[in-house]
Amino acid sequence: MPVQSLQELLIHEIYCSVQGESSFVGLPCIFVRTTGCRLRCVWCDTKHAYHEGSVFSFSQIQEALKKWPYKLVEFTGGEPLEQPQIADLMQVLVDDGYTVLVETGGHVDIGFVPEAVHKIVDMKAPGSKMQKKNHYQNLNLVGRQDEVKFVLADRQDYEWSLKLIREYNLEAKTNLLFSTVFGVLPPDQVVEWMLKDGVNARFQLQMHKYIWDPDKRAV
Ligand code: SF4
Repeated sequence: MPVQSLQELLIHEIYCSVQGESSFVGLPCIFVRTTGCRLRCVWCDTKHAYHEGSVFSFSQIQEALKKWPYKLVEFTGGEPLEQPQIADLMQVLVDDGYTVLVETGGHVDIGFVPEAVHKIVDMKAPGSKMQKKNHYQNLNLVGRQDEVKFVLADRQDYEWSLKLIREYNLEAKTNLLFSTVFGVLPPDQVVEWMLKDGVNARFQLQMHKYIWDPDKRAV
């Protein structure tokens, strides 16, 4: 059934786990995964979220969140910002005392997302084959509570990211995350590059892929 109201979202799954990435890593977090994404990153690990899902009203989502005793919620996907009405739900949750995160693929303008929401903006490096879809203006909108994430497949991706970081002066205005494509680029290699170049970024592993089977869903 398609979304028919501005108070509804197409949702793939809602679950509680520990946050596997970002500066909130390790904290219990409720994940709201929306359905659908216009990108097709070659290394995408959530292809299952391109389709399927059910329509939830905002109040149904609010009720679902109450199943867990936590006030940290992340909207992820798929691509949550492809359903722009989500901004209204985010504001409702912020007003209700939630710390709200959104992980976005970086191709949608984040300007409509409420200020209190922590935006985790992926920038698609060449190895994703989605580099041309980046909405670079987002790099002028991120602030101190936001995060810009680079998922690296190889040295070319790293050099591309570093150039962008320096061009937009990102170290001074936001938080930076470096990840590797799981099983493709050795983590110690990226750490070595970072330290050699003096990049002020956080290196992160996708912790959930070490706690559970890397292909396990809803964790
Ligand atoms: S933006 Fe995210 S969900 Fe969309 S294709 Fe890329 S990795 Fe997959």
